Amino acid sequence: MDPLVDRFGRVHRDLRISLTDRCSLRCTYCMPEQGVPWLAKPTLLSTDELLRLTEVAVSLGIVEVRLTGGEPLLRRDLVEVVAGISSMQGVDGPVEVSMTTNALGLDMMAVPLVEAGMARVNISLDTLDRDTFVRMARRDRLDDTLEGIRAAADAGLAPVKLNTVLLRDVNDVEAPQLLAFALEHGYELRFIEQMPLDAGHTWHRESMVTGQEVLDRLRTAYHLEPVPQRGSAPAELFLVDGGPATVGVIASVSSPFCGTCDRVRLTADGQLRNCLFAAAETDLRTPLRDGAGDDELAALFRASIGAKLPGHGINEPGFLQPPRNMSAIGG
Ligand code: SAM
Ligand code: SF4
Repeated sequence: MDPLVDRFGRVHRDLRISLTDRCSLRCTYCMPEQGVPWLAKPTLLSTDELLRLTEVAVSLGIVEVRLTGGEPLLRRDLVEVVAGISSMQGVDGPVEVSMTTNALGLDMMAVPLVEAGMARVNISLDTLDRDTFVRMARRDRLDDTLEGIRAAADAGLAPVKLNTVLLRDVNDVEAPQLLAFALEHGYELRFIEQMPLDAGHTWHRESMVTGQEVLDRLRTAYHLEPVPQRGSAPAELFLVDGGPATVGVIASVSSPFCGTCDRVRLTADGQLRNCLFAAAETDLRTPLRDGAGDDELAALFRASIGAKLPGHGINEPGFLQPPRNMSAIGG
């Protein structure tokens, strides 16, 4: 089948699947502390439904699948899902399966996940300070996160990538320490600008820690040199002290990379989103449950990609935060 190309010539090869909207943490920039409006159980895709939709996506040229959430480790069929997707054949060979996780419980799961075909993990780590962790994630679980990171590396999920969101006057001063930690252990650290996707709508452009600020903070301790050739990868990479180690900055807000976006997202309740910030979704669950054939489902994928806008529009007047928060979209 023809690949998933949008009106701007962007070929979509990367599918992000949110396995659940539930989470073991409550990061302030993502979820509310209480009163989370959970997705209704009957709306959640079963293992078979999820694999069927992934198979259709793979037939349309998807070669990389990233599992996310919410917290994907909370999904009981995770190993089965990984095994199912990693056994699919994309246009370039087996589909590559990776996961974005907070690593709570990964110490028990890393080996089974590798055995099921998981290729890589991105682990969120915003701080190395216990009090700051509690302040940001509203749970006292720093040690469990660190244990999960170690387990991922021990299980051979290399390179372990670490994702950090810096919040002003909370963990922004820690940028150089986080890089020192990553360098010491051979992890690849990437800083992500906070985006307006939190349930509490607390994002403010003025207080957001920009990618430029991150670099300024890191340069107080390290020499950074840009690595050319970004491709469709969102992270702008910098060689640290001459390399080979690198650090990444994902400046989604201050320096959007929508022009090279090759991603499409499937929510845990079977809605296709052509952008993190999309206002509209394409319902795949209803037709799937009504017995739609692969061609009909493929047409829905194409329609969604066909309607994709050139950019996320965060920096335009009239921008509206999507109704779903990050944990229900899948970052
Ligand atoms: N629970 C997993 C985790 O935290 O890695 C996976 C889901 S989480 C939504 C995926 C990524 O999105 C994490 O790296 C998290 O830091 C990031 N994220 C969440 N809310 C964000 C926001 N408002 N702006 C930028 N990144 C955000
Ligand atoms: Fe959970 Fe990840 Fe959101 Fe934190 S960022 S609340 S770990 S989904």
